[in-house]
Amino acid sequence: MTNPVSITIARGNGIGPEIMDATLSILAAAGANIKTEEIEIGEDVYSRGITTGIEASSWDILRKNKVFLKAPITTPQGGGFKSLNVTIRKSLGLFANVRPCRSYAPVLETLQPKMDMVIVRENEEDLYGGVEYRQTQGSAASLKLITRPGSERIIRYAFEYARKNGRNKVTCMSKDNIMKIADGLFHKVFDEIGAEYDDIEKEHFIIDIGSARIASRPEHFDVIVTENLYGDIISDIAAEITGSVGLCGSANIGADFAMFEAIHGSAPDIAGQGIANPSGLLLGAVMMLVHIGQGEVAAKVHNAWLKTLEDGIHTGEIFRDGASKKKVGTDGFAKAVIERLGQEPSKLNAVSYPSTKGGMSLPPLKEVKAQKKELVGTDIYLDWVGKPDELADKVLPLIEDGLKLEVIDNRGTKVWPDGMPETYCCDQWRLRIKSNDAQPVFHDRIISQLSKITQSGLDAIKMENLYTFDGERGWSKAQGE
Ligand code: NAD
Repeated sequence: MTNPVSITIARGNGIGPEIMDATLSILAAAGANIKTEEIEIGEDVYSRGITTGIEASSWDILRKNKVFLKAPITTPQGGGFKSLNVTIRKSLGLFANVRPCRSYAPVLETLQPKMDMVIVRENEEDLYGGVEYRQTQGSAASLKLITRPGSERIIRYAFEYARKNGRNKVTCMSKDNIMKIADGLFHKVFDEIGAEYDDIEKEHFIIDIGSARIASRPEHFDVIVTENLYGDIISDIAAEITGSVGLCGSANIGADFAMFEAIHGSAPDIAGQGIANPSGLLLGAVMMLVHIGQGEVAAKVHNAWLKTLEDGIHTGEIFRDGASKKKVGTDGFAKAVIERLGQEPSKLNAVSYPSTKGGMSLPPLKEVKAQKKELVGTDIYLDWVGKPDELADKVLPLIEDGLKLEVIDNRGTKVWPDGMPETYCCDQWRLRIKSNDAQPVFHDRIISQLSKITQSGLDAIKMENLYTFDGERGWSKAQGE
């Protein structure tokens, strides 16, 4: 036998230790050729004042082993603590979050018996940068950042995944009818990359109707690729439709590292009761075995698990009188899977996996032509309370030569000139100041404009420059502008 593959494990919080023990007992009984090295993450680490939730020394272990099986953890609310899940995904460059969600009808009751989709969620960008500010007493802001390389990598991954796994269609979901620039970029990159995959059907859904369709007609979807927040939400919806959030595992894949987990959280409401369903983490572990080239063991575990479900041995949250036969706790479920190792399901389709190492090497990013970027104005944000016309009267005399105050908006809606009296104005305002002859402006002109405004006593809280790229507007217009 070859040397065992070293993997890092973390038992996590809440139901984490229970489902990890159950999962590891099944892997051991199935003959997984792995050796585990444990790190401590989550609540206890946070409570020692480490705001990242992970000790510095644990990173060395993660780096050495490159493969991580992680139970869910509890992220403390507030207090400057950062989500450890997000930190690990971003620090180790785990850009792709792959979440297969399928129904197990007729074995598990579900409104959607024909569902079999894989959600490929972008894992590093979007609102999960956690870049947030309070600039006025009455407002709070989160930065949504979408990049071309980030979008290209996840979209390419989704198409390659589809090809490698015999799937026929990739659906992109975004909200580019509203976020025309950020989500527009994601959609545009989807169209560009998709054009290279003639053999795969492509489509795009606006995320709201897309989510509704997942709930009403999930059989329509095959592989879905989407941004971080949308992916987080739709994968919980999809998992719940299969019968329980406890039934889906996920793989977080990067160029050098991979982390495997359940999609659900630490379920503090049922922790310590021995009733949690270990299936999500177990299916994460199955994906891990495939990734490290132990496809045969992965299939053995997966088929025994399917047979257990098929035999009606169910944890409480999926147990239904009549349809289920025996209600078990976490350990009882693990024992039942172990007893069925070597067996295959008969009503559900048995699975098989290749024994070559998983992972995927993607081609280098597409070269992009350098664009001509020109500064043509600036948006200056103010903390101010009053009426739009009063603000315009204060600002107009302060405008520098060569610039013009084009519009004032509040929460993205134009309120000057010719605003609607009905528009509610909060304490965060935006002045859009642009070159008055459509020519580029220089930074020093903008800085001197900012100084003039602050020297007048107005509270400028932020500025955002307005650029064109090859002459194309690089900012969104205010509603009504
Ligand atoms: P949750 O997923 O932990 O629980 C949601 C509901 O599903 C609860 O009713 C829970 O009892 C049930 N549930 C979840 N997993 C189950 C299982 N395996 N078996 C049976 N029932 C199960 O979501 P939450 O309550 O919103 O979050 C709890 C904590 O988990 C929070 O601190 C959150 O930040 C954290 N969280 C962690 C991760 C992670 O570590 N990857 C992911 C999501 C949430």
